[in-house]
Amino acid sequence: MARSVIKSGGLHAGALLTIDLEAVRWNYRFLRGKLGARVRCGAVVKADAYGLGAQYVAPALHAEGCRDFFVAHLDEGLLLQPQLSASSIYILNGLPNGGEADCADAGLVPVLNSLDQCHAWSMHAAILGKRLPAVVQVDGGMNRLGMSQREIAAWVKGGSQLAGVDVRFVMSHLACADVPSHTANAMQLAKFRRLAEHFPGLPRSLANSSGIFLGKDFHHDIVRPGAALYGINPIPARANPMRAAVRLSAGVIQVREADKGDHVGYGWDFRPSGPSRLATLSIGYGDGLHRALGKGGAVYFEGCSLPIAGRVSMDSITVDVSELPPDRLGVGSHIEVIGDHQSVDDLAGAMGTIGYEVLTGLGHRYERNYLGAADLSRAELVGELQS
Ligand SMILES: *Cc1c(COP(=O)(O)O)cnc(C)c1O
Repeated sequence: MARSVIKSGGLHAGALLTIDLEAVRWNYRFLRGKLGARVRCGAVVKADAYGLGAQYVAPALHAEGCRDFFVAHLDEGLLLQPQLSASSIYILNGLPNGGEADCADAGLVPVLNSLDQCHAWSMHAAILGKRLPAVVQVDGGMNRLGMSQREIAAWVKGGSQLAGVDVRFVMSHLACADVPSHTANAMQLAKFRRLAEHFPGLPRSLANSSGIFLGKDFHHDIVRPGAALYGINPIPARANPMRAAVRLSAGVIQVREADKGDHVGYGWDFRPSGPSRLATLSIGYGDGLHRALGKGGAVYFEGCSLPIAGRVSMDSITVDVSELPPDRLGVGSHIEVIGDHQSVDDLAGAMGTIGYEVLTGLGHRYERNYLGAADLSRAELVGELQS
């Protein structure tokens, strides 16, 4: 799948995605530093660690001391499980119907999102004749996943729904944590506390990345950051405190001259206003660059902004390089799509979306270069020798 070396003959792919595992680790340490000594910092590595490659990212975080990993699906958990010793892997989307045996065999921890899931997990524990770990999710007002007030009431009355289940903690999720002034935050916190009362003595988990920045009241016992680990700004109204973890550059595959009256790209959408030089880059919507970038998007070369000219194709974009001296850029030059001049969040803004969607949409055609992966194998090795 992902390769981490650039072949001597240059790129075999159209574009180079650099993933900085040192930055991911720095971000983890930074978030952990915001927490009280008794609060555990987990890591959300669902959707292939937001597109960065969970098989690289999760071990990097493991080497940093993380022992609580969150994925969305059972399959994602099964894939990572062999790499994450002495860790808990939680399945956020819940216990899948019929997935009880696979989940239990691999030692994964399902989030129980409904009474039905509680029953199913409890019954499986009875079949195996042992206690099975789980997390209980209550709906704190997002109406997405988790047990409703009514279900919890039924639960409390019924009493034994969780026989054989070792509930590790009770969790809920914030809907508006990226807007600190939103009234939903305090309301959700109050509701979560109220519902969690039904599970006396159990640890609690509420905060995602942005939730960590809402203050200690939101931290509880374990936090679940994802986006901030990968460099997305968890506090959009303020300067990003996180380190960028991703760089993306695309190769120039052709440079051409165009004149006034010419047309560029599908639909003949773009017409140069005079003699121009155009560069075609080997990256397109098949690599996650939305077509919306055809209206006002830009990429960067040596600090110079290069406007995207015309529509985004599946495998290429055309950019106007007229501003650059002719000898500065040619076939094989590498153009920044994400980097010092355009952050993931900037690119998301130009696409009309959010950084989360940019990262998870990056696709699988890039040459991938993992920085810090070598140190990681050494660190992991030391860990193995010590244990
Ligand atoms: C995705 C997810 C997270 C991580 O959220 P970020 O905003 O990426 O930090 C945490 N908890 C749950 C339940 C999630 O689904």
